[in-house]
Amino acid sequence: MDSEITIIGAGVIGLAIAEKLSEEHNNVFLVEKHLSFGQETSSRNSEVIHAGIYYTKDSLKAKLCLEGKRLLYDYCKKYIIPYNNCGKLIVATAEEEIDVIEGIRQTAKYNGVDDLVVLERDQIAEMEPNIFAERALFSPSTGIVDTHSLMKQYETNTINNGGQIVYGSEVTGIKRIKEGYEITLLDADQKYYTYTTGIVINSAGLTADKISEMVGIEDDNLKILFCKGEYFRINPPKNRLVGRLIYPVPHPNMEGIGIHVTIDMGGGVKLGPDVKYLESNVYDYKLTASKQEEFFRSAKKFLPFLEFDDIAPEMAGIRPKIQKPGEPQRDFYIEEESKRGYPGFINLIGMESPGLTASISIAKYVNNMVYFSI
Ligand SMILES: Cc1cc2nc3c(=O)[nH]c(=O)nc-3n(C[C@H](O)[C@H](O)[C@H](O)COP(=O)(O)OP(=O)(O)OC[C@H]3O[C@@H](n4cnc5c(N)ncnc54)[C@H](O)[C@@H]3O)c2cc1C
Repeated sequence: MDSEITIIGAGVIGLAIAEKLSEEHNNVFLVEKHLSFGQETSSRNSEVIHAGIYYTKDSLKAKLCLEGKRLLYDYCKKYIIPYNNCGKLIVATAEEEIDVIEGIRQTAKYNGVDDLVVLERDQIAEMEPNIFAERALFSPSTGIVDTHSLMKQYETNTINNGGQIVYGSEVTGIKRIKEGYEITLLDADQKYYTYTTGIVINSAGLTADKISEMVGIEDDNLKILFCKGEYFRINPPKNRLVGRLIYPVPHPNMEGIGIHVTIDMGGGVKLGPDVKYLESNVYDYKLTASKQEEFFRSAKKFLPFLEFDDIAPEMAGIRPKIQKPGEPQRDFYIEEESKRGYPGFINLIGMESPGLTASISIAKYVNNMVYFSI
C-alpha cells in the first residue's frame, strides 16, 4: 500500500483525527480539496465550546461533547490556543419557558453535566445587567475558542508527527481492492493521480455522503441535507453590553438551538444562527438582509437595549444534516463499514454541532476503530 491511512477532509475533525493517528501510525495522508484547511463549515460556526446540555441521552453527541469539552480546554491550555471559559445563560423570557428550563437541567444532569445553576431575576441582573430573563440556567463550563488557531495547531502537530497533508487535491473516486482501497485524486493542476491505502477515513463534511457513495455505500439515511444558518452582528458600542453567551430555550426537535448571542475572542458579538434547509445542496453562503427584522425581534426578547439599526448581516454557515426537516434529532454517524462489506472504511457523516467541541474525542473514538480494524 502507498499509504497506511487516508483521511479525507481537513476541517477541524479531519485535522484532529490526523493529529491523533499520526502519533501512532507512520504513513498518514490527509487529503483536502481546498488550498488550505478549514475553508468550509469549520470556519463558519459559532466557535462555542458546548457543555453537552441538549443532546439525546446516551448519544454519541452527548458523550463525545462532554469528553471533548474537557480535552479541548486542556489542549487550549497546553498549546496556548486563545479561548475563554465565559459561561452561558439559557434564558426563559416567558412564563411557559420556565418549565422547559427544568427539563433541560434534567437532560443535562443525565448526560453528566451537573454544574448547571438556576438563576432568578436578581442573580441574572448581577451577572448580565443589560439582558432580560424571568429565569435562567447558567452553564459555567461553556466557552469559546479561536477555531483557526486550534486547526493550525492540529495541522502543525500532524506534520511534526510525520503525517502528510495534501492540499488542493479532490478525491474523485474510491475503489475497494484486496486489503484496502484505491483512491483517485484530481490535483490543483487538474491532473488525476491514483494511489492505494489500507484505511480510509471519510471526514468530508458537507459531501461526506458523496464520498461514501463513491465506494459503493448507498443509504437514504445517510443523505446529507444542507441546512443554512445566518448570523447578524451587533454593532459597536452595543456589543459591549453582553459578556457571555446568551441562548433562548431551544426548539423541541433541536433543528437549531434558537437565535442566540455568541461572543468571539476579538470582542465581536453575533446573533444567530437561524435554521433553513436549502432546497438543493448548493454552497449558498449569501446573506439575507431582509432577515434583519426577524433577528431583531428574536433577540429583542432578551436584549431590551437593542434597536433595529444596531445589527447588520455578518456571515453564514451550512450544517451537514442527516436529520430531515421535522424529524427527531439524529446522532453523529461514525462507523467502520465492515458490516456493509467495506472493512477499514470509516464514515463520519452528519458531523454538525457539537463537532468542533468534540473534535479531540471524535479523534480518539476513530483511533480506537482504526486499532480494531488493523
Ligand atoms: C452555523 C453553524 C454553527 C456551528 N456552531 C458550532 C459551535 O458553536 N460549536 C461546535 O462545537 N460546533 C459547531 N458547529 C459544528 C462544527 O462547525 C462542525 O461540526 C465542524 O466544523 C465539522 O468539521 P468537519 O471537519 O467535519 O467538516 P468541514 O469543516 O466541512 O471539513 C470537511 C472538509 O472536507 C473537504 N472535502 C470535502 N469533499 C472532499 C473531497 N472530495 N476531496 C477532498 N476534500 C474534501 C472540504 O473541503 C472540507 O475542508 C456549527 C456548525 C454550523 C454550520
